[in-house]
Amino acid sequence: MSRDIFVVIEHLRGKVADISYVMLAAARVMAQATGGQVVAVLLGHNAQGLAGNLAADRVLYVDHLALADFTSAAYQTVLESLLSEHAPRAALLGDTSIGGDVTAWLAARLSWPLVSSCRGVSAEGDVLKFVSQTCGGKIMAEGDLPGPCALVMMVPGGYKPEQGQSAQPPQVTPAAAPSLEDLRMVVENYAEPDTSDVDISREPILVSVGRGIQTQDNIGLAEELAQALGCPVCASRPVVDQGWLPATRLVGKSGKIVKPRLYLALGISGAPEHAEGMGESEMIVAVNTDPAAPIFNIAKYGTTVNLFDLVPVLTEKIQEAKSG
Ligand SMILES: Cc1cc2nc3c(=O)[nH]c(=O)nc-3n(C[C@H](O)[C@H](O)[C@H](O)COP(=O)(O)OP(=O)(O)OC[C@H]3O[C@@H](n4cnc5c(N)ncnc54)[C@H](O)[C@@H]3O)c2cc1C
Repeated sequence: MSRDIFVVIEHLRGKVADISYVMLAAARVMAQATGGQVVAVLLGHNAQGLAGNLAADRVLYVDHLALADFTSAAYQTVLESLLSEHAPRAALLGDTSIGGDVTAWLAARLSWPLVSSCRGVSAEGDVLKFVSQTCGGKIMAEGDLPGPCALVMMVPGGYKPEQGQSAQPPQVTPAAAPSLEDLRMVVENYAEPDTSDVDISREPILVSVGRGIQTQDNIGLAEELAQALGCPVCASRPVVDQGWLPATRLVGKSGKIVKPRLYLALGISGAPEHAEGMGESEMIVAVNTDPAAPIFNIAKYGTTVNLFDLVPVLTEKIQEAKSG
């Protein structure tokens, strides 16, 4: 076992995902405790340029045509080989669709323990500790990171992406890929998202509704508020699953990643799968009657008043302010 902390860099279509930087920030905390290095693992094809701003001590870069696009088959094969060869103290992957496709598989193949939904790490002496969100983010579970090697799936929220970025390019070391000839999975093409509707990922203000909105008819309340603010309405998954808003408005793991200047969450609990899509918003304001709702862990401002009491008054006040 080595003392290094590996971070599997998540990237899509030429852009490093923010969760990669979040993981690098967490890895630095761990490596300071173990005395090892932060090693970024970058898999791709002609993707070396993505290493430039990674806050890692070094980058292990595997270049192969089969890694040009993410497939779980190719990533699993390469990561199993790299991790069993280097045996780092911990390997961090995103608790994302991509991370979810490979990490449990790796844990089974390598017989390494797996901590999921990890939001933060710390150390007491040389003992590494983790904090994981469970039960939709309502419970924070703390524990010692089991060893000698462990897999950790990170959710956003515990670290700012900027903490995992560096102006100093890291040293990049090419690593050999195992045979990737017999993969049973290839990417044929990307299905582009529907562009006929508004692109919520580009909007500076979003009013977002969750299950707390109760019925389709009540969406109109949020729409009036959004109209007053000059922004669209988006939603958590239950609202979209009910067909009350189209899938183009879904925020989260299975929807869009949004980073508006203001994200006004109405009746949304803040489950990790939702937070994954909006946790990096500049300012989150939450309206939720449950003071223990996890959305308050990431909100800058919050209130526990009933959204049905608040929204009409808020809409009226904004309309008044705008007309006056
Ligand atoms: C693989 C996978 C992918 C997923 N992808 C996504 C995704 O992309 N996006 C997503 O959002 N979810 C996703 N989910 C679902 C996610 O786990 C949660 O179930 C979902 O986010 C909960 O939505 P919610 O907060 O609207 O509902 P709830 O968790 O039911 O929360 C409703 C909240 O409304 C509050 N409330 C009720 N009435 C009022 C009122 N009158 N005034 C104010 N507050 C009120 C309640 O206190 C509660 O906190 C995914 C789940 C899985 C397993």
